[in-house]
Amino acid sequence: MTRLAAFFAAVICALAFPVAALAASPAAHQIRVRIEPDSRFLEGRDSIRFDAPRAATLVLSARFRVDSLLVDARRIEVPPKPDRGFQRIALPAARRIDLRWSGELAPIERNLDHRGTLTYAEPTSGKEGGFLPSGSGWYPAVDGSIESYELELDLPAEQRGLVPGRLIEESQAAGRYHARFEFRRPAEGITLMAGPYRIEERRVRTAAGSEVRLRTYFHAEIAGLAAGYLDSIAGYLDLYERWIGAYPFSEFSVVSSPTPTGFGMPTLTYLGIDVLRLPFIRATSLGHEVLHNWWGNGVYPDYARGNWSEGLTNFMADYAYRERASREAASAMRLAWLRDYAAMPPGDDAPLARFNSRTHGASQIVGYNKSAMLFFMLRDAVGETAFDAGVRGFWSAHRFRVASWDDLRRAFERASGKNLAAFFEQWLARTGAPHLRIADAQSESVAGGWQLSVTLIQGTPAYALSVPLAVSTARGEITRRVELSRERETVVLELPAEPLQITLDPEFRLLRRLAAAEAPPILRDVMLAEHPRLITPSANAAVQAAARKLAARLFERPQAERIVGSGLALTRIANNGVKSCIDAFASMQDLTPPTLVAGLHADIDAWLAREGMTARPAMLATTRGSAQVWTARAGDGRIVVLVSAQDAPSLAALSAPLPHYGRESYLVFEGARMIERGTWPAQPQVWRLK
Ligand SMILES: [Zn+2]
Repeated sequence: MTRLAAFFAAVICALAFPVAALAASPAAHQIRVRIEPDSRFLEGRDSIRFDAPRAATLVLSARFRVDSLLVDARRIEVPPKPDRGFQRIALPAARRIDLRWSGELAPIERNLDHRGTLTYAEPTSGKEGGFLPSGSGWYPAVDGSIESYELELDLPAEQRGLVPGRLIEESQAAGRYHARFEFRRPAEGITLMAGPYRIEERRVRTAAGSEVRLRTYFHAEIAGLAAGYLDSIAGYLDLYERWIGAYPFSEFSVVSSPTPTGFGMPTLTYLGIDVLRLPFIRATSLGHEVLHNWWGNGVYPDYARGNWSEGLTNFMADYAYRERASREAASAMRLAWLRDYAAMPPGDDAPLARFNSRTHGASQIVGYNKSAMLFFMLRDAVGETAFDAGVRGFWSAHRFRVASWDDLRRAFERASGKNLAAFFEQWLARTGAPHLRIADAQSESVAGGWQLSVTLIQGTPAYALSVPLAVSTARGEITRRVELSRERETVVLELPAEPLQITLDPEFRLLRRLAAAEAPPILRDVMLAEHPRLITPSANAAVQAAARKLAARLFERPQAERIVGSGLALTRIANNGVKSCIDAFASMQDLTPPTLVAGLHADIDAWLAREGMTARPAMLATTRGSAQVWTARAGDGRIVVLVSAQDAPSLAALSAPLPHYGRESYLVFEGARMIERGTWPAQPQVWRLK
C-alpha cells in the first residue's frame, strides 16, 4: 500500500525550502498582488527593504513588464528585458527598492514528466487554480538572498489563495477576496497558490499550549474530505509536539491542486485533487509533510554537508507509523529498504553525506532509506530514551538555524553519553554497505550447556556492527547481539540448550547488502538497472510499440544515458531474434543486465520455454486479468521481468501504473487497474547445525 505513498512523499519534498546562505543580509518584501484568473493577468507592487544599504540583483520572469522602479525613492530606468527566461536587474547599493510589475501568467498545464517530477518553470493561473512557485520569477526575488515577507493577495470573490506563513487578516468586499500573510522566518522564496477553494477551518490548542489554525483549501469535488484531513493534521501535531517540541508555526493548511502534483512548504502542503483522494496520503504522506515543519523548515539542513532531514522525517513519520502498526510491518519496511538498496547498481551508490535532494530513484534510496536506516540503527545503539532526548535536544538547540549531521551527532552524544563519531563516520562517509554472511558455525556440549562458535564475514572495509543472531535451540529461540569490527571474526555464544540453526539478522536491523536469497527479484531491479534491456517476443507492431513505451516509462535511465552507456541497452528483438540478442550483448561490459520481456501471453510462454526458464507461475494463470507481470531469475542469475498481456491495448494500459510498483515481485492488472500484487518470499540467511 505504501509504494505510492513513498513515491508521493518523495515528490512532495521537492519544494522544501533549502536555505543556503542565512548569513546574507536578508530582504524584507512587502508585496501586494492582484490576480485575475479569467485573463491570467497579474499586477503587483513590492517594496523591498534591507537592514543596511546593499547592492542587489532582482530576478523577475521575462513574461512581466516592469511598470516602475524606484531605488531609495529615485526613479531608475529599467534595462530592456529578454523575450523569455528571466530579466536580471542589477541595482546599486540601497536600503529600499519599490517596483511595480504586470503581465500574463502561463495557462495551467499538466507539465509534469511521467514520474511526477517537477518541470514547472512558469507561474501559472486559471479558473481551476493557480500555482506561482518560488523560483519562477513571479515576483522580484532578490538574487541569492534570504527573504522574509508580508504579502497581500487580491483575488476575484470566488477565488481563495495563500502563501506560506501566518494569515493576518482576510476579507470579502466589493466582489473581491483579500488576504494578508506574513512570514518572518528565513525563506528562500515565496510560493503562491490560488483556486476556487472552499475553506474549512479548525483552531486547535496543541499539547504545548499554543493555538494553531488548521485549514483545508479544497476544490468543491473533494470538499467532503476536509474534516478527515483536519482530524489527521491535529493528530500529527499532537504526536510531534509530544515527541519533539512545540510546533514552530501558527498554521497548517492542506491545499488542493488541479494538477497531479505534491509539494511541501512551511505551514502547508499542496497536493493534487486525485492525490488527496488516495486514502494513504492522509495516513502517511500528510504526517511526513507536517513533520517537515520541524525537520527541513524548522531546522534547516546544511546542504553543503548533506541533507539529514529526509532520513529523519522518513524515520519519524512513514517508518514510525509502520512501527505503531506492528513489529512485522516495521520489519517488512526495513526489508523493503534493503531490497531497494540491493536493486541499486553499485555505480549509483554514493555516501549519504553527499545526498542533497532527490533527483532519481537511486538518490532516494540513499537519501531517504539508507538515511532512515541510520536513525533506526542509532536508536538500537543508544536506546529509545536517549534517542528521544537527542531529538528534543537537537530541536531546542537548532530551531530556525542551519544544522549539519555533526550537530545531530553531538545532540545524540550528549543525550546518550556515548562517543558516536565512528558510527556516524562509517554510515555517512562511506559508499556501500557490509556484505554480512555466516561463514562457519560449530557447536559443542560443555558443562552446564552448549557453546556455539560462529564465524561472520562482512567484506572490506569492515564496519563496526552489532549483529543480531537468532539461534533456534531445542528449547526455543534465543536472540543475541554480537559485536563485530573486523572483516572476519569468530564469536562464541554460551547457550542453555543445543543450537539447531542460526539466522543472521532476521528482522533486518542492519543496513547491509542482502544475499541473493534474501532479496527476491522485484520490478525495481529492472527499473534502476544501469543497462536495462527490452525483449519483445511478439511480432505484432502495436504490441512492440506498447512494449517500447512501457520500457521507456519503467527504466529510470533516460534514453540518452542508456544509449551512451552501452550503445545497445534498449534493443528490440523480433519474434525469432532471441539468440542474436544474447550474442549481441555478449560483448557488453555487463553480461547479466536485468531484462524486461514484454509481449502477448502465448509469445511469453514460448519465450520462457526457449530460454529454459521456469514457466508462468500457476497463480498467474493467463485467464486472470488482462495482463500479468512477474519477476524471475534466469539460469545465469540475471533478473527478468516478464510482462504478459492478452492484447496490445492491455499492454499499453500498464505504462502509467506499473512504474509505481517497483517493490513488487508480481502483479495482475485488469486494464490499468491493479487487482493483485505481492513479493516472492525472502529466504533468510540460515546456517543449519543439524
Ligand atoms: Zn520529505
